Amino acid sequence: MSEEKQTETEEEFLPGFDTLTNYTQQALTTALQATKCSNDLPATGDDFDYYSSYQGVREVLDIEGNRILNIIQSILKYQSVKGNLTGNSSAVDLEDKFDVLIDANDQILERVGGWLDEASGIKKKETTLVVASATPKHNATASWNKKSSPGQGNNLSSYRLLTARNIQRPQMRFRDKIDNVNRPFVPCIRYKPNAMKTLEVIISESLQLPEDITPEMTENPAFQYPHPYQHELAHLKPLQKSLNVSAPMDPKPLGETECMIVTNLEELKDLCNTLMTQEEIAIDLEHHSYRSFQGLTCLMQISTRTNDYIIDTLELRNETTFNLNHVQLWVKWKVISVQVLHGADMDIGWLQRDLGLYIINMFDTGQAARVLNMARHSLAHLLQVYCQVEADKQYQLADWRIRPLPEELIKYAREDTHYLLYIYDKMRNELIERGNEQNNLLHSVIQKSTRVCSQVYRKPIYTDGLYMELYKKSKKVFNSRQLASLKNLYSWRDRIARVEDESIGYVLPNHMLLQISEILPRERQGVLACCNPIPPLVRQYLIEIHNIIMEAREVPLTTVSTPKIKEPSMYKHPKYNPDSLLNCTHDMSYQQKYQDLGNTPCLLDPTLLKENPTMFGNSKENITILKKKPLLTVFENHSPKEFTRAQRMAAAITATFVSPITQYLPETKDGKHEQVFNNWMLMKHTAVKRKEAPPTPATSSGPPAAKRQKVEVKDTGDLLQPFGKLKSGHGRILGKDTDIETSRKKKKKRKMEEEGELQLEEEEEEEEPAEDFTPYDYSKVNLNIFEGGTSKEGKKKVFDPNAGMRRRGRGSKVYKPQFSTAKSQKSSTFGKMDKSQRQQIWPK
Ligand code: AMP
Ligand code: MN
Ligand code: ZN
Repeated sequence: MSEEKQTETEEEFLPGFDTLTNYTQQALTTALQATKCSNDLPATGDDFDYYSSYQGVREVLDIEGNRILNIIQSILKYQSVKGNLTGNSSAVDLEDKFDVLIDANDQILERVGGWLDEASGIKKKETTLVVASATPKHNATASWNKKSSPGQGNNLSSYRLLTARNIQRPQMRFRDKIDNVNRPFVPCIRYKPNAMKTLEVIISESLQLPEDITPEMTENPAFQYPHPYQHELAHLKPLQKSLNVSAPMDPKPLGETECMIVTNLEELKDLCNTLMTQEEIAIDLEHHSYRSFQGLTCLMQISTRTNDYIIDTLELRNETTFNLNHVQLWVKWKVISVQVLHGADMDIGWLQRDLGLYIINMFDTGQAARVLNMARHSLAHLLQVYCQVEADKQYQLADWRIRPLPEELIKYAREDTHYLLYIYDKMRNELIERGNEQNNLLHSVIQKSTRVCSQVYRKPIYTDGLYMELYKKSKKVFNSRQLASLKNLYSWRDRIARVEDESIGYVLPNHMLLQISEILPRERQGVLACCNPIPPLVRQYLIEIHNIIMEAREVPLTTVSTPKIKEPSMYKHPKYNPDSLLNCTHDMSYQQKYQDLGNTPCLLDPTLLKENPTMFGNSKENITILKKKPLLTVFENHSPKEFTRAQRMAAAITATFVSPITQYLPETKDGKHEQVFNNWMLMKHTAVKRKEAPPTPATSSGPPAAKRQKVEVKDTGDLLQPFGKLKSGHGRILGKDTDIETSRKKKKKRKMEEEGELQLEEEEEEEEPAEDFTPYDYSKVNLNIFEGGTSKEGKKKVFDPNAGMRRRGRGSKVYKPQFSTAKSQKSSTFGKMDKSQRQQIWPK
């Protein structure tokens, strides 16, 4: 706490109390008096029995006793401690009540202890830096930590978790309390300056919503407030100047560039004045997500052509003027300046959430890398290609809350924006040179970047079905009790994470949650034994957790068939999802499923092909943006004249296609059949397209050198959006062996479909349907065979895509952590651990 604040608090510590000392003295006196009074009461035994034989005494004791119990109960409720003291006194006996009281005291004191620890973190002397090294296991799949040159710096591919022992929770100093309630995120700007259209947000305390949105709708967690700058984004026209080739401006060496750390309002205002004169700026953010439910923007790096700036957004978060100043500037920039970011998907949301900033005129170098079909899309790769700078990504996972900022972190943070404008120059030129007369490539990048800008920050929303996702991913087989425990613990964890403002991974990591629910420990100690290291909040809420387990143990025992739930998880964070083997920093394919596909140009629409022939890249260079032939047709020899007929035929045929997959799906109201059917159609086209492609084996991650001059089929991205996974290059090889036996394929297909993901890697069978093609009516099939019989003999014969999975699940009695949290201790096998290892300290 700053001195200034301390004096502020000393003015009126609590209503009626000037200082903390006053308050504690008064409290102590009261407590003493109460103790004295209670000691004066007749003691249990003879005295008590004697006095209570008088009815008058009994009545007073009863009334007062109940009153006190009620007071205690409301204190417990206020402290969110569970336990019933007041119920019919006959039902809850005295000992139970006493237990509840002791537990409650423990919990409250534990919490106080935690807060005191937290508060003592203020002592700056103790902020010794801790550097822990971690070598990521899955180097091969994640591009962000891959070194571009295999020879050099391999030892660097392990990165360090730079943290400090006593980092004060920045949230403690925030003026506006963080809103973690399970409701939609409300944009924090109060008005919309310099807008083209000022309807949505006006100068008032509350956000004014478009007419078609009722207040009730905003109560629904699934509701999303519209983007305040929707209109501006839709009508944005890039300046002609930014569409022309221009000589790249070399970046000054890092050592010769001035770097300013902006920590107060004065400095911020100066910076704003400087920024107003800039035509383009580079921006990046650093973020912390472990000790906060939604995450915190810790730093905002800005680079101009000549200077680097690092804004301490934890320190300046409180400055509302910061928001206002900036929003105004931002909108001004919209007209004159371009904001260059790399892989901005997360950054856009973070800016909206923490600073009320909306970026409007963006060039995302990550999107440019995609359109240019570069081998990798990471910033590290671009730095290497364009600047011959070997980026040091080892501090990516640093705890960015550390203050004062260590030298290493400053350097790291600067590098993220320092070269970005130069990279922008280079990439923009390249896009223009490789594009057609319409400058299609550059426009495509701008369009994609604008789409990223149009995203609205979404708060993680809890729904009752969420736990099933974790359950299914875990491949465990739980009975009804275990599932009940999982469900309730999951919900408990969400509630605690919101209340305490911690990440769910900090409250209780997934693998521990599963472990506790699997074992259902009878004793409290057993709960702790499931966790190593023991999360502080688990210790603190042990009683509550234990009660949940005891309740779950009462549930009637039945075997549960896994219901199919396909709710998208709000918790799936592409960057932090530590469970994901496909963790790829700047992979934004996941975003695209949220995007509106309605307006996307679609090749299935023949008018588009006819009206905009240039759109598909007729430039004389080697560039083919799309296949010259329509992807749709199966009749290769038709000339354009006959196109309509072919198109008609193709449409007729596709209309008759009924994917076998759809036949096996249970009937749903929401038209999932149709969706799968459409997916299948896309796959079909992809398959056909691939057939036309030259026989060069193409991999998703690195195109062969010869292919590099050709910018190939990039725009199919739009068409394939629901399958963003394919584009993201998860390291799987695309052109798989087509000779895989059909049965295996079908099994896999069904399995994938159950997981809610049809993946494109799977090659469709390529039989071309004849004109008089009559599809087999799968509805006549006896679907019951897929349900699996109950008898053992039946099971053997019946196709059960989950059989293997279940067997695995059942067999694995030994605890094997399936997940490792990026920032938690490195997961190690529970069984193998010796005693000293078991006493791990929970990471702060
Ligand atoms: P960057 O865009 O590389 O500057 O990253 C911005 C922030 O994203 C970092 O401060 C991290 O908090 C977070 N981040 C980036 N990559 C990862 C990762 N692989 N794992 C966890 N967090 C990440
Ligand atoms: Mn970034
Ligand atoms: Zn960064």
